[in-house]
Amino acid sequence: SGQAVADIAVIGLAVMGQNLILNMNDNGFVVCAFNRTVSKVDRFLENEAKGTNVVGAHSIEEMVSKLKTPRKIMLMVKAGDAVDEFIGLIEPHLEKGDIIIDGGNSHFPDTQARYERLAADGILYVGAGVSGGEEGARNGPSIMPGGNPAAWPFIKPIFQAIAAKAPDGQACCDWVGEGGSGHYVKMVHNGIEYGDMQLISECYQLMKEVFGLNGDQMAAVFKKWNTGVLDSYLIEITAAILAYKNPDGAELVELIRDTAGQKGTGKWTSISALDDGIPVTLVAESVFARCLSSLKDERIRASSVLVGPKPVRITADLQAKIDDLEQSLYASKIISYAQGFMLMRDASRTRKWNLNFGSIALMWRGGCIIRSAFLGDIKAAFDKNPNLESLLFDEFFNAATTKAQSGWRNAVMAYITNGVPSPAMTTALSFYDGYRSPRLPANLIQAQRDYFGAHTYELEANPGTFVHTNWTGTG
Ligand code: NAP
Repeated sequence: SGQAVADIAVIGLAVMGQNLILNMNDNGFVVCAFNRTVSKVDRFLENEAKGTNVVGAHSIEEMVSKLKTPRKIMLMVKAGDAVDEFIGLIEPHLEKGDIIIDGGNSHFPDTQARYERLAADGILYVGAGVSGGEEGARNGPSIMPGGNPAAWPFIKPIFQAIAAKAPDGQACCDWVGEGGSGHYVKMVHNGIEYGDMQLISECYQLMKEVFGLNGDQMAAVFKKWNTGVLDSYLIEITAAILAYKNPDGAELVELIRDTAGQKGTGKWTSISALDDGIPVTLVAESVFARCLSSLKDERIRASSVLVGPKPVRITADLQAKIDDLEQSLYASKIISYAQGFMLMRDASRTRKWNLNFGSIALMWRGGCIIRSAFLGDIKAAFDKNPNLESLLFDEFFNAATTKAQSGWRNAVMAYITNGVPSPAMTTALSFYDGYRSPRLPANLIQAQRDYFGAHTYELEANPGTFVHTNWTGTG
């Protein structure tokens, strides 16, 4: 055991933990490092952390004894059992008011349950989504902490110091809300990331198959888009990927097998949307698009038996078509984020998380995969009206979707007439048209439900009263 010198302990010396520790050290905090396989502590102190103020511990007891109170212990271990195992090992050594932070990719219901269990024991539990991978952890991640608000004043100086900074200098870390909300918001972030990637990939396919552009030409388009409303990390790396050539001159992206993997956060977001009855269609379509991509052998068999239009290369007005596509991507992205914020709004209300939407937009502005200029506009919308019902009601985004109308519809028609799939872009437009419809055909669905199942319906003229008709009898 030793003196209480450390501001925080980090458990888990894999890539994320090591880089977060070095980042904290750079920002003037004394970190105590610990790991299940204890030999990795000394290896870290003698190599990556050599010459820093990082201290190590070889047991939980030693780690706890080195911490200033209230003790702050951050877990950067594999999500799942490892988190519960460590909580079980640490808790007997803690006092009321001490803080445990889970910075891994835990599923939010697990975090909610841990938060409730530990709150009963007086331990302040925080689930913090950390985004930005290894590079972000080292130089500035986006951090989304939620849980026990009493913990925030103690961890705020550390987290805001190590977090990415938005272009205006604000830290991409703020208090998200209560319970499992930090990991929930990180999950929705990842779901939105699926949508952004799918939309960009759909643009690539139209540019390649209908516009007839090669890798360098597409890279030039994305580079230009990156100087406008679509300015974002994913557009930037897409330009770099499309321009990348192997030593023999081949475009590497064209050599990659077209089956997309997934680790489950898009699926979790979609499941949560289905559970809560919120139409987050863009994320769900993006997950299903990855599923369809994985059926490669079946697709190859289908390609020789199923008919449809072949893409026709356009020859005239190429720049106008590219501009339409840019508008379509932008409008679809607005729909995707509007849906994501609808989901979080509902979750905040039903789970009493008290989410701060402006802060969420700010946290996503820098450090993470979906970072973009666009999130600054979302932040501004929620600053103007913290209770904004939908992004689509905000003046700025209303003007943007209005301006995008003809380009958006032209681009979607180009996909459809050429037989190029656009699950995300078409679902975005369908959502938009459904959302702005005062009357949808659900009246017929209600009639059908009543016809075959006596589920009853409501008359427009008499809301709240449910009636049944014997549809096959005489009237
Ligand atoms: P990881 O490979 O997910 O986990 C390795 C760490 O977990 C090691 O310290 C390991 O200890 C420990 N561990 C594994 N099983 C354990 C168990 N049953 N009991 C106790 N400890 C156990 O590490 P990572 O990639 O650095 O990620 C850490 C967390 O951050 C994860 O939740 C991950 O999902 C999340 N995350 C990762 C990234 C990324 O880009 N990698 C980005 C954001 C968030 P030993 O050394 O003893 O095996």
